[in-house]
Amino acid sequence: MAYSKDLLAYGRDVLAQRKQKALQTLQERKRQLYAAVPRLQEIEMQLQQTGYAAIQTAMRGDLPRLEEIKQTNLALQQERREMLSRLGLPEDYLTPPFTCPICQDEGYADGKRCSCFDKIIKSEAYRRLNRQSPLSLCDFSNFDLSYYSADEYDGKPAARKQMHDIFAYCQHYAKTFSLSSPNLLMSGRTGLGKTHLSLSIAKAVIQLGFGVVYGSTPDFLAEAERERFSRNQNEDEFKTTDWMMECDLLILDDLGAEFSTSFSYATLYQWINTRLNKRLPTIISTNLTPKELLDLYGERVFSRLIGNYVPLFFAGQDVRQKKEQAAAKS
Ligand SMILES: [Zn+2]
Repeated sequence: MAYSKDLLAYGRDVLAQRKQKALQTLQERKRQLYAAVPRLQEIEMQLQQTGYAAIQTAMRGDLPRLEEIKQTNLALQQERREMLSRLGLPEDYLTPPFTCPICQDEGYADGKRCSCFDKIIKSEAYRRLNRQSPLSLCDFSNFDLSYYSADEYDGKPAARKQMHDIFAYCQHYAKTFSLSSPNLLMSGRTGLGKTHLSLSIAKAVIQLGFGVVYGSTPDFLAEAERERFSRNQNEDEFKTTDWMMECDLLILDDLGAEFSTSFSYATLYQWINTRLNKRLPTIISTNLTPKELLDLYGERVFSRLIGNYVPLFFAGQDVRQKKEQAAAKS
């Protein structure tokens, strides 16, 4: 699989900016430091001279002289280290502060693409995929439990108690997220906070540095269909569905809201299966009850969901409606 040209170009741009910034920072450090301590500038010039001299001497094959130059060079480096240390500065203060010490912000090391380059490209790809999702609006901090009833009904526990537990579970899930976190199945009627909590998890997990893809099932299926049937796609380029299968956490919102076709059924089955085989965590939210899931998708999909996902049953009355009513009254 290859990255698309524009993602690669974006990655190179970021690397070039990082590198330029590191070099500028070094220039600025030198400017200030050499004005205050001229000896340090002398050392730099002498180190350069010994470098040139070493090359010429090596070419002449004068080994005893080469050894002398080497000793001079080491002594100069030592003197510089001691001076920096006396000034309370780190040893590497006069080297460019590259973001990635492995490739020095070149993007390649040992002829291979550096992991920092991959990281830039992945996080940009996920950012683009999540562009449509209101990730910035939802947060654990604005999840309001007071909209859920505190009364027991029909001998069942109060919705607020149940939602309090789910809320705590989701917060803990986000805080301790790792690639071995479990899959979650959020089930409950519209307006009970499934989207709010899954978006909050997405936001928190992204902040931990993981690659998250968030989107509604109907939107992803529409995109998968476009990709599947469009001809002018570069075959081995990463597509939306590849990123979905690749990411650290996939969140499929609103399973069951899609237009049901044999394509949607086969694709959903493949997505769920692929993520399970890769052992990568997935969160699915749905308005359907387990019984409705079984009726709509059949035993094959249902058994995978029930067997491999932690179910979270959302309780209460439509919180969105309640919020609107409260807003209308005030
Ligand atoms: Zn690197």
